Amino acid sequence: MTYIITSLCLRDSGCIEVCPVECIVPGKPVEEWPWMYIDPDTCIDCGACVPECPFEAIFPEDEVPEAYEAKGGEYISRVGLTGHYEGIDHHGNQVVLDTVRQLEPGEVVDLTEDIQPNYDFFENGPGYDALD
Ligand code: SF4
Ligand code: SF4
Repeated sequence: MTYIITSLCLRDSGCIEVCPVECIVPGKPVEEWPWMYIDPDTCIDCGACVPECPFEAIFPEDEVPEAYEAKGGEYISRVGLTGHYEGIDHHGNQVVLDTVRQLEPGEVVDLTEDIQPNYDFFENGPGYDALD
């Protein structure tokens, strides 16, 4: 198994520092890979990243919600969306995303769609090269 970062990720970077095996990688270019990605072959399922995420974006793979019910106002960030988000990351650096949409209260979103991109990032995408 592995842990999965979903489209609720707004790149605040907090999870990266706590991972004991350094398997969380920032997606680049951000327009194509808007989240952080967890290398499924390296993740040891320790769960340390989960409480670090201010947006509750990280789940064990088999617990990624098929029907995530929005509180309202939170963002999802997926390729193809055209909204705008500006925030501050864990280090006080600015984060800008133009692949977002804000959710309505009670809106239900299938986050299991976000599982495959985590695998694609390391198999067919930039993978660890994104660190360069
Ligand atoms: S579950 Fe543990 S090993 Fe896996 S990404 Fe999170 S912190 Fe890293
Ligand atoms: S802590 Fe959450 S929002 Fe921040 S980079 Fe990690 S998954 Fe994304």
